Amino acid sequence: MSDNPSDTPRLDLKHLTRRFGGRVAVDDVSLSIAAGQVTCLLGPSGCGKSTTLRMVAGVEQVDAGEIYVDGRLICDTRKSIPAEDRQIGLMFQDFALFPHLRVSENVGFGLTGDAYARMARVRDLLARVGMERFEAAYPHELSGGEQQRVALARALAPRPGVMLMDEPFSGLDNRLRDGIRDDTLDILRSEDTAVLLVTHEPEEAMRISDRIALMRDGSIVQEGTPEELYNQPVDAATVAFFSDINRVSGTVKKGILDTVFGPLPASTLADGTKVCAVMRQHDVRITVKGAAATVERCRFLGTATHVKARLEATGDAITLNQPGHIPIGPGEKVHLSVDPQDCFIFPE
Ligand code: ATP
Repeated sequence: MSDNPSDTPRLDLKHLTRRFGGRVAVDDVSLSIAAGQVTCLLGPSGCGKSTTLRMVAGVEQVDAGEIYVDGRLICDTRKSIPAEDRQIGLMFQDFALFPHLRVSENVGFGLTGDAYARMARVRDLLARVGMERFEAAYPHELSGGEQQRVALARALAPRPGVMLMDEPFSGLDNRLRDGIRDDTLDILRSEDTAVLLVTHEPEEAMRISDRIALMRDGSIVQEGTPEELYNQPVDAATVAFFSDINRVSGTVKKGILDTVFGPLPASTLADGTKVCAVMRQHDVRITVKGAAATVERCRFLGTATHVKARLEATGDAITLNQPGHIPIGPGEKVHLSVDPQDCFIFPE
């Protein structure tokens, strides 16, 4: 169980900012993570994810803001507890095991206390990551996935309250990745560790996170559960980050946006507001009735058919991904529809 008072976040970032030269790499980032919770920092390359993680790890200067662990200030612009004294575990893509130490010695490396207790902790962790048989092996005798499991055991050994992970699974091949990823997160949750994990892959973030903080240009644009980000996105770029999309432009009249797919409710927007309706490609369907269009391209992808068609009414291209095999080809006339519930409307 956690020794953390229930309302105090295990990791609390307040207004973190980092500049390089005149450029702001991390801009006023605030984020709280509870014990046993996994939060992903998600965003495109260069948006400031790793710099945020590095500030928390204590290897990057903080230009403004504060970092707290269990309510204790560990860093602001005047004070910075050294990285090794922060009791924060690190697991990065290029995790390096000590090549001259056996697996058990690698895992026990940072442990203090009596030898019996240290060995018990090492054995317990190796069992939990399924590596007890390899206790006496050297790192070069292990596969990439096995080394990853030992690195996790080593990072967990001193019972850090917080674990920072930067693209930790990207070095593994796809076959290994899903299993190791799920096992790793299960172990971290069971140890009551607050996890801040960096990834640029939306699917990975959806799969492993309790909460996602989506970053763009140094700032967090939306933070919430995976369902909140997917179902209540704050802007079109957020929808587009998780799925391929179509956009249809228009103007709000009497609380309605009239589109080729029919009227869409827009009651929260003032009359005359120029907006775009955003719909995911997999939410558009070829149906018996709907907006008339001509197929320009059609590819069967195995589980779905990918179709590009041009709307007769507006000349706009619409792309869709419909499950199964649709036996159509270029030049054919189709009708397209989309459920109004699957459309998001944002001011242009
Ligand atoms: P990626 O997914 O590619 O690793 P990221 O989101 O982690 O990207 P950061 O590594 O945090 O991005 O970098 C954010 C911005 O800060 C980038 O524009 C980067 O070039 C810049 N930056 C990072 N470190 C430094 C540095 N030491 N000196 C100057 N600029 C830096």
